[in-house]
Amino acid sequence: MASKRTQEILDIFEKMYGRQTRCYLNYEEPWQLLVATILSAQCTDARVNIITKDLFVKYKTIADIAGADISEFEQDIKQAGFYHSKAKNIIACAKMLTREFGGEVPSDIDELTQLPGVGRKTANVIRGNIYGIDSIVVDTHVKRISKRLGLTGEDDPEKIEFELMKRVPKDYWILINMWFITFGRTVCKAQSPKCQECQLAGYCREQDHPRKSSRKIQQKAPRSRKA
Ligand code: SF4
Repeated sequence: MASKRTQEILDIFEKMYGRQTRCYLNYEEPWQLLVATILSAQCTDARVNIITKDLFVKYKTIADIAGADISEFEQDIKQAGFYHSKAKNIIACAKMLTREFGGEVPSDIDELTQLPGVGRKTANVIRGNIYGIDSIVVDTHVKRISKRLGLTGEDDPEKIEFELMKRVPKDYWILINMWFITFGRTVCKAQSPKCQECQLAGYCREQDHPRKSSRKIQQKAPRSRKA
């Protein structure tokens, strides 16, 4: 059960965004969401959607990606950035999926995180969106919002995930992914949060309360190999 403070925060988010969930990455098949999520590391979802629009026409199955020429695939995904490592991981991941999982994307977190390029964040995107398993995806927005709202004191994404799992009731886990990402993109931005219009300002733990200050908040998203 959530503390009174945490529940008040959740209630405000629910009033703002409702209980409707959506995924910002376009996909039709589970493997497509996996590929899109790997591509989205250090890249906007909008750019990934532009890339995958053509990519999923060219590569129609996970087996097609497993058999792709790496140089050609790198060019296909170049706009996503870090295309050498992303191409290497996606092709290796596709090979492992076809070889060891019959081409199906698993739901088990340990199996998912064995796949090249797949860390807990990507695994939880798959578990929540494909399998409806309650999971918390700690991306740069979820990390920043959780810290500013005092829902975690941790810096490490995995520790944040486990802290949020303790503090937030399970039936909110998938919802807070969408709520925090939407809030982080539109109001509580990393560099220039719109504190004057923030409905959560009364719960903000940001040092030197930004509502009283116009200074920009400096915060960098970390880079990690597995997303
Ligand atoms: S007051 Fe500003 S920094 Fe704090 S949660 Fe709201 S938008 Fe973010």
